[in-house]
Amino acid sequence: MGGLLAASVMALGVIGQAWDDSHGALGAHRQAASVSNRGKQEKASLASMSSQAEGIHFSLPFFFGPQVKIEAFGSGVPSSEITHVQNLLNRVNSIQRIREFLGVRMNHTATIVLVKNAADYQTELRQLGVSAGDASSLSEDSNGFTLGSTVVIPLFQNPTDVDLANVLTHELTHVDINQHIANIPSWMNEGMAVYMGMNGQKAIENPVDFASDEKQDAEDILQVVQSNQLVPLTGSEAAILSGQETYDYELQDWLAVCYLIEHYGKSSIQTLVRHLESENPNQAFYDTYGETVSAFNAQFTKALKQSASVSSGGAQLEISISPSYRGEIVVQPANQAVGRAFKAEPGTHHLTVTASGQVQADLPPDGTRKSAIPATPGTMYVSLLPQRFGTVAGQRLLDAQMEIQIQNGLYTFENAWEELENNPMYNPSSVPDVLGVAITAIHDEAPDDPILTMLNAENA
Ligand SMILES: [Zn+2]
Repeated sequence: MGGLLAASVMALGVIGQAWDDSHGALGAHRQAASVSNRGKQEKASLASMSSQAEGIHFSLPFFFGPQVKIEAFGSGVPSSEITHVQNLLNRVNSIQRIREFLGVRMNHTATIVLVKNAADYQTELRQLGVSAGDASSLSEDSNGFTLGSTVVIPLFQNPTDVDLANVLTHELTHVDINQHIANIPSWMNEGMAVYMGMNGQKAIENPVDFASDEKQDAEDILQVVQSNQLVPLTGSEAAILSGQETYDYELQDWLAVCYLIEHYGKSSIQTLVRHLESENPNQAFYDTYGETVSAFNAQFTKALKQSASVSSGGAQLEISISPSYRGEIVVQPANQAVGRAFKAEPGTHHLTVTASGQVQADLPPDGTRKSAIPATPGTMYVSLLPQRFGTVAGQRLLDAQMEIQIQNGLYTFENAWEELENNPMYNPSSVPDVLGVAITAIHDEAPDDPILTMLNAENA
């Protein structure tokens, strides 16, 4: 642990499509690297056909599961960071999740190499056989990399545990796939990896935040559909290889896997993997789902188009109010300068906002309030006006806000913050919980929207 990863520590069992760059399920930085990376896949794969480092670190009997070895490369990664990643992997239970999802276990040690900065990331990628140009661009904008059974995690691109839970589970999914399947199309490989990355993320993230992240990723694809830019799944690999990727294909791949899970069950992925181990991908897909990839793609695309044309049906917010909060809750719908006030009462309550901006709640209504926040298209606010001004950080606390964005009919939580006398945005938080009031669920009122059905696959 902690030492240099020698150039000879190469991938185990590298077969076929062996490397991957992950750009995370949250960020907007994925696209550029995907364009530049995939084209050099073969080079990296060839370079990796080298010696291996099996059996170095067997602290557990083999039958307890495959080993994951965590190392640091370069300077500035303290041993506490290695421990942190190990603990996080255990907390998320990534290995077990992946095994249960794919139905096959890793049979060689996976090596996770942590790097602290772009220079070390680049050096490590080059030692793994990535070309100088690719190593340079990857080190700038990818948040994870897998070659065979070796995963490189740039810590600086994954600042939170939620990011790490996602990228670790994503990349280890590729490792498991690499160890079992020689020939897998990019969309299946990435779709499964993104699905599992989200699954790992979900294990530790606030549920409203997770649902919001999922919906925002889906919105990206719906916007691609609306602008008529969507390319078929079957064509994605060629397009990527020729540098033609115009949006983040991984998100489309993810939704396709979600669609399969929603329609055929999560266990169908294990069946697909089993077929992929011994058959070509088209045959494997047909044997699993009883239809061709192109027929499936047509249905999937149709569902996305249908979803892209659905207009907002409003949403219901579940809100938990602690007895410590005394005051009003004011809901300011999108495009409105006036909010609807309700008296807060402890307990779990529901607020309903219709597409036209009507607000209802199972709380005593208390008239309207002119908001300091101007009417905003696509954004609504849930504001807390305490009965008495408290003091925070030596200043008078005026109120607090929770911001909700609406796009493609989907409601997503963005930020919460407090407003102090001399600080309009104090203590901003990505968790929907402020002054003892929390949004505990957001239900979009669009039961027939296919995208919501697809996203539900992450709950399967
Ligand atoms: Zn990936």
